[in-house]
Amino acid sequence: MKRDTILIIGAGGVGRVVAHKCAQASDVFANIQLASRTLEKCERIRDEIGRPIGIAQVDADHTHETVALIRRTSPQLVVNVALPYQDLSIMDACLETGVDYLDTANYEPLDEARFCYRWQWEYHDRFRERGLMALLGCGFDPGVTNIFCAYARKHHFDAIDTIDILDCNAGSHGKAFATNFNPEINIREITARGRYYENGKWIETPPLAIKKSFDFPDVGPRDIYLLYHEELESLVKHIPELQRIRFWMTFGQEYLTHLRVLENIGMTRIDPVPFQGQKIVPLQFLKALLPDPGSLAENYTGKTNIGCLIRGTKNGVSKTVYLYNVCDHAACYREVRSQAVSYTTGVPAMIGAMLMQTGVWRGAGVFNVEQFDPDPFMDRLNRYGLPWVEKVIPGHVDL
Ligand code: NDP
Repeated sequence: MKRDTILIIGAGGVGRVVAHKCAQASDVFANIQLASRTLEKCERIRDEIGRPIGIAQVDADHTHETVALIRRTSPQLVVNVALPYQDLSIMDACLETGVDYLDTANYEPLDEARFCYRWQWEYHDRFRERGLMALLGCGFDPGVTNIFCAYARKHHFDAIDTIDILDCNAGSHGKAFATNFNPEINIREITARGRYYENGKWIETPPLAIKKSFDFPDVGPRDIYLLYHEELESLVKHIPELQRIRFWMTFGQEYLTHLRVLENIGMTRIDPVPFQGQKIVPLQFLKALLPDPGSLAENYTGKTNIGCLIRGTKNGVSKTVYLYNVCDHAACYREVRSQAVSYTTGVPAMIGAMLMQTGVWRGAGVFNVEQFDPDPFMDRLNRYGLPWVEKVIPGHVDL
């Protein structure tokens, strides 16, 4: 079977990057279809791309709509860059039509802000029995961060002891308060309780309660806050010797002050509240007021630096490996009209799709990216716009 048709669902910040980058790799993606809830967003992206792509309207909350779209467009792979709420309904559509699946964020129920792979891992047997492949979390974090860990384990360590994932956005968009990807998903993530893994146990903390400082290459020192992030769950499963893993993200004081006020007045609540005879979810209303993350791209300056500080042993000797990528907001805009947060998510999604379509990564069932050979992915990161840096330091370097 010729595997040259891809269906991208979701025409937001990340969808724009996936569509542009797939169009740049026309040797693999001869036929690109882009579908989303709002057709005009697909039209805008199609008009930016210099070659023809198919577009369609779909509400992917309804499996039957996605099934009909897949039957009309005949892809071998669906790339889901809509929202985490659609993951299961799109996976159901893939199973019904016999098509592979890829996403960048794990399923979340609308009424429960909680990262958990269980719901999607439960699809493993159904995908395996149908000979189909589902690849989960193929953005940057999760995604490239998992691949950095797999690469370090393959090339540098007999055993990994500890991992710190360090996510820094040192960019400036000139707005008083905005989120870099979907505001609803972003704020749910940040206001949730912190959580990390140590010596076989998960330890919970109040939201943003643990703070340190880290000197990011090409960026400088920044405050970092401990968060729970979904790749911690899969990395603990797939690197069984791990003693500790934590995830850290940078936030400026201005952002945190706005967030605290919004929380204090109830605007980040995700439960419906009665308002003038109807029910509204405050966080969904807030999303309608905040800038569309895509609209930030034009005036965004500065850089992101996302990477992993990994400690372990090789031949009984301790060492630390720091792997990271630096991405420039303005350069992303010049290339694909997006900011770096969307770019660093969309490029890995395209690379994962490329490895699946060309059969370099193949398996029947539901997988996380660290379960595959990291080398072809690492090689393509350098070729498709996300070059990485590797620093090897003797001994264990702590934060
Ligand atoms: P946006 O909100 O910019 O875009 C989401 C798009 O999905 C919108 O165009 C939206 O349509 C569409 N959509 C929403 N619901 C449906 C539906 N029911 N059916 C069809 N289309 C729908 O988000 P981003 O592009 O910033 O993020 C996309 C995904 O990437 C999210 O899941 C996010 O969590 C993930 N992500 C992953 C990262 C990683 O590193 N792994 C980092 C950043 C994001 P409409 O325009 O009509 O609202």
